[in-house]
Amino acid sequence: MPAPLRLRLDGDALVQNWRTLDRMSGTAACGAAVKANGYGLGAIEVARRLAKAGCRDFFVSNWQEAAELAPLGLTVSVLHGVRAEDMPAAAAGFARPVLNTPTQVARWKAAGGGACDVMVDTGINRLGVSAEDIAGGLLDGLTIETLMSHLACADEDSPMNAVQRDRFAALAGRTTAKRMSLANSAGIALDGYAFDLTRPGLALYGGIPRGDLANAIQPVMTIEAQILQRRRVSAGETVGYNAIWTAEVDTDVAVVNLGYADGYFRGFSNRGTAWAKDASLRVIGRVSMDLVAISVAPMPLLTEGDWIGFEPDLPLAAAASGMSQYELLTAAGDRFDRKWI
Ligand SMILES: *Cc1c(COP(=O)(O)O)cnc(C)c1O
Repeated sequence: MPAPLRLRLDGDALVQNWRTLDRMSGTAACGAAVKANGYGLGAIEVARRLAKAGCRDFFVSNWQEAAELAPLGLTVSVLHGVRAEDMPAAAAGFARPVLNTPTQVARWKAAGGGACDVMVDTGINRLGVSAEDIAGGLLDGLTIETLMSHLACADEDSPMNAVQRDRFAALAGRTTAKRMSLANSAGIALDGYAFDLTRPGLALYGGIPRGDLANAIQPVMTIEAQILQRRRVSAGETVGYNAIWTAEVDTDVAVVNLGYADGYFRGFSNRGTAWAKDASLRVIGRVSMDLVAISVAPMPLLTEGDWIGFEPDLPLAAAASGMSQYELLTAAGDRFDRKWI
């Protein structure tokens, strides 16, 4: 049964974005973060397409996500490492853990080890062992594929970037790691942060974390939803919950099959932009759970069953809604048909 709302996903744009980030990574390999269901686009389709384009390193958060990708036979790293409950999955060998804590390291060693990655904290104070742990021999005896760290402020020109890079660089040769990896999407745009492997997520999917990437990255995901009803709202009448929009003149309005339960956030109320053909249309009134109203005054022929596209430019949509580009992607719900073109 076709859904009344869909994500139009541009497979060429996805691959082009990866190729661009790969080129910007210089001699480093370019991987792909496909956690959170490929940032909402669908992890399996994303990974399949990027693998075909030459991507060899994939990153998910947990073992359920890794298990979902297992049939593709890719090299997958699990960023959150291994809990005791994950050890049976880890033993199955379809992914390797990124060990984050001394407890995880001990658990992995006790189970006989095998290839793993390790996260070292260089200042974000989120996940990772410390440089002191490493100096103290914590990682001795591990077979490490990739030593990685994560930047806290790569989307800003912060002095913290160089501090983290230098702390990370100082660990070169101090472990058995074959490769070192620091940069996310924003880090790829910084000079000298690529090391051996980069790990973009956001920019693959059309997100632009730094102005320097604006001309290099193209949108991949467009939300489209069907009109349920077209109505004329008389001057002085209001539209939607809490009556936050009032018609100044008689206005034609389309009520569309999309709402905040689909990840079209309430922040788009009275502020979102939609598109029909090449006409730009305004979201009016409050976004409901499953519905949103659009002024279709410029489009006399739009009618029930027609499709409306919503702003695909993530920086613009983020500015309109007050949400981050990450949230706009990853919130895309499971009521959408995901349609690759
Ligand atoms: C999510 C994540 C990435 C990708 O970050 P983007 O900002 O989306 O490019 C890279 N590395 C780690 C450890 C992550 O958690």
